[in-house]
Amino acid sequence: MSEAPLPPLTIVEIQRRVGAELDRIGSVIDELGARFAEAGEELALVGGPVRDAMIGRLQNDLDFTTSARPDTTERLLAGWADAVWDMGRAFGTIGCRKGPWQVEITTYRSESYDPTSRKPDVDFGDSLAGDLGRRDFTVNAMAVRVPSRDFVDLYGGIVDLAERVLRTPGTPEDSFSDDPLRMMRAARFAAQLGFSVAPDVVAAMTAMAGRIEIISAERVRDELVKLICAPHPRLGLKLLVDTGLAAYVLPELPALALERDEHHRHKDVYEHTLTVLEQSIDLEHRLGGGPDFVSRFAALMHDVGKPKTRRFESGGIVTFHHHDVVGAKLTRKRMQALRFANADIDAVATLVELHLRFHGYGSGEWTDSAVRRYVRDAGD
Ligand code: ATP
Ligand code: MG
Repeated sequence: MSEAPLPPLTIVEIQRRVGAELDRIGSVIDELGARFAEAGEELALVGGPVRDAMIGRLQNDLDFTTSARPDTTERLLAGWADAVWDMGRAFGTIGCRKGPWQVEITTYRSESYDPTSRKPDVDFGDSLAGDLGRRDFTVNAMAVRVPSRDFVDLYGGIVDLAERVLRTPGTPEDSFSDDPLRMMRAARFAAQLGFSVAPDVVAAMTAMAGRIEIISAERVRDELVKLICAPHPRLGLKLLVDTGLAAYVLPELPALALERDEHHRHKDVYEHTLTVLEQSIDLEHRLGGGPDFVSRFAALMHDVGKPKTRRFESGGIVTFHHHDVVGAKLTRKRMQALRFANADIDAVATLVELHLRFHGYGSGEWTDSAVRRYVRDAGD
């Protein structure tokens, strides 16, 4: 997996892509836009789909923002969508499906957080500008009004997207005070998009890392899973470690970096771990399907038992006896703290506990029955 920065995109190329993608979803945005306009409401495609259309990776999820309150949205979708559901009316979000499209429509928000509380206070807003201003990154704060297809970019998101950089619309300090989860999201989007993070954003993440503690474990977990399942997890993980965020959300990882010993008697366990993660990703296609969280997270955690079990023996020998068992225990504890489902915890911890069984496999020392035993013990 190459770490060389991708060349900047040209604005002309970005505009061409958006035009082509909007044409592709033309019937949805024209019909839905007309329905809202007739009711005197504003509607705009916003956030992820606008960003992804520019990168050329727009999928079937279409997020909209609107002046309409949820009850009105629901009424306007009835008779048009194939199915409508409540995704969180209190937060303003109504979902629907129309053919292959998954649509989420959220009322304009001006959301603020009480920094001492875990609960977001939601205030519905009145303007698209206000709604865009409270979004996390400039590349996520662009909108296309429908049905007019007017492009709205108040914070220079298109330039940042061309340069592949994550920047906050306002100061990163204000943004992260409002919602510290955005620090995790910076790392997640770096991993998903292969973007860099602006230096002032990295500085704020570093200074404010401890604020992540007010965020619920579930929200942190969801961002971590997306980061690990992304195309460039190394970028996101490095950012978490370098800013100090990992010390709060996944302390076992920076602990591996402390294992570097000055005489280089054994490999840098942290670097080795990131390499194993990437090797695991390279083999993933054999499992069929897409990114596999269990195997990726097991690769990341496989050596976390090493710091606790390291012993210096005579003759300059370093040992890590039982680091597999200790690592499986630490993995369980961490995944429980992050509120993972028991099935995921069991699957990852089992792989961590069994990882030493692979010794000798590469040199052909495994017998058929050893392979069968491994498959039985490791499960799916
Ligand atoms: P994907 O759905 O592909 O993971 P996305 O950009 O749609 O990416 P979501 O988490 O679905 O990400 O959020 C949708 C949009 O809502 C974002 O693009 C961003 O504009 C805004 N957003 C979501 N969470 C936050 C947050 N915590 N702070 C500020 N803005 C947010
Ligand atoms: Mg989304």
